[in-house]
Amino acid sequence: MGKNSMKTTQEWQQDKVRIVLIETSHPGNIGAAARAMKVMGLVELYLVAPKHFPDPQAIAMASGADDVLQQAKVVSHLSEAITDCHIVIGTSARSQRYLQWPLRTARECGEYIAEQDEDKKIAIIFGRERTGLSNDELDYCQSLVHIPTNPDYHSLNVAAAVQLISYEYRIHQKQTSSSPPEYNENRQELPVNQKSMEGFYQHLEKTLADIRYLDPSNPRLLMRRLRRLFGRIDIVPSEMNILRGILSAMQGRKFKTRNKKP
Ligand code: SAH
Repeated sequence: MGKNSMKTTQEWQQDKVRIVLIETSHPGNIGAAARAMKVMGLVELYLVAPKHFPDPQAIAMASGADDVLQQAKVVSHLSEAITDCHIVIGTSARSQRYLQWPLRTARECGEYIAEQDEDKKIAIIFGRERTGLSNDELDYCQSLVHIPTNPDYHSLNVAAAVQLISYEYRIHQKQTSSSPPEYNENRQELPVNQKSMEGFYQHLEKTLADIRYLDPSNPRLLMRRLRRLFGRIDIVPSEMNILRGILSAMQGRKFKTRNKKP
């Protein structure tokens, strides 16, 4: 189906999920991931600073999913790949980490994604072949997904991980039909996107330093905990305006007081 034609429900669902691969070393893995996506009906691939791309090995391993590769967007930093996303999910080869992020199994994650409104954009982030995701990258994620494995040998090839997570999403998708999804009139406001959340975290960090709650010489743990806290809830634009207004007030800036009598 052409890009400009009317979208089927299936395409609306495809557009909901974005696969993000970070600093993939082997171009063959990028091709294999594109193939894994396409067979499960996913098309949107972002590559953060791939070591070699485009590359003939990627095309060879894509085996007919070259359209996914051709449309893939290459960016230099994770923040660029998720700026318009409402939900960011990291993948972890380990089932436990210090200062845990909310963790789902691949099955639970597939169900969670399938349940989300169709106009929410969801990014699933996959790490480097050798070292996975850094803590700084995990800070962008509201939750993690782990594919249950042999505890003594838990690290899958990255394209295999893409395959399993895309599959779990696919089996939880509702049966597709040719009409666009129905929207619930009482549906809540769409949560703010990642760009807005990052602006908020920067403002929060600056404000906490200004009021000397945060020690700039050791800020990491506090901000990570606050990211965990705010990442657990869907903040909508009107609520974000209130939070930013409170921060500005804490910084002593003049702002228009709500409900203030003239
Ligand atoms: N030593 C690394 C393993 C990286 S494997 C680590 O411990 O993080 C490369 C990537 O494949 C991971 O970053 C993740 O995106 C994916 N992956 C591998 N095994 C996985 C698993 N069991 N569950 C979820 N994702 C997995």
